[in-house]
Amino acid sequence: MNAVLSRSSDSRWPVPPLLWATGAVHAGAALSLLAAPAYWPWALAAVVLNHAVITATGLWPRSTALGANLVRLPASAAARREVALTIDDGPDPEVTPAVLDLLDAYGARATFFCIAERATRHPGLVREIVRRGHSVQNHSHAHRHNFSLLGPRGFAREIQAAQAVLAELAGEAPRFFRAPAGLRNPFLAPVLHRLGLALASWTRRGYDTRERDPQRVLQRLTRGLAAGDILLLHDGHCARDAQGRPVVLAVLPALLATLRQHQLVPVTLTQSCAARSTTP
Ligand SMILES: [Zn+2]
Repeated sequence: MNAVLSRSSDSRWPVPPLLWATGAVHAGAALSLLAAPAYWPWALAAVVLNHAVITATGLWPRSTALGANLVRLPASAAARREVALTIDDGPDPEVTPAVLDLLDAYGARATFFCIAERATRHPGLVREIVRRGHSVQNHSHAHRHNFSLLGPRGFAREIQAAQAVLAELAGEAPRFFRAPAGLRNPFLAPVLHRLGLALASWTRRGYDTRERDPQRVLQRLTRGLAAGDILLLHDGHCARDAQGRPVVLAVLPALLATLRQHQLVPVTLTQSCAARSTTP
């Protein structure tokens, strides 16, 4: 089993170096206050700077400094020329069925990071996603705008509620979690570890929730395209092109054709991360 999916929830969470450094900064600041109170502005500045670094890191979706974060498929998947299409913020009754038809037309498999509240409203769509061979993963319960400001309890509530809904509807518990907008703070990683979920972000994204030009979305997704890439598109919250068409529907045929042209195989995250490595 690949390391991405083999983490068990009863093992200890491996504290990342940035958080050890944070502990050291705080301890050092406290000690220096005791030893030399007159230098308090320096101690305060060190703590403020440290918090600024932590906050900036949480606003960087592809960062691995706050804990494990899947930004590319494992090397074994890249060796098989696999890529992962990930489609966020659905299911959407207008867009998702058309996305499924396009994927079928190219024999492609994708991973849908669903918002559980939407899944509850459209349970048939979740079942249809699974029936067509795709994977349903956890994108939180309500996709709250203030998600990255939650603490450990708030994270656990949002993620566990979504996990229960999606496991029930999809018939299989999600193994991956993606934070709304990819934003987070240091409390998220220990919660995910306890729940046995792996954080997944992406290699490249098209910004298709606000970009109205399908050509530019396609360029962002295909510039430097390589085996092992994780690509991000949206079936929910997607922008509309000049003709009022959901951008994802305009982008997908050209994107799938480009993948085929480069002999890249779109598979689900679970498929590519759970498959045994073919390299020693
Ligand atoms: Zn989202």
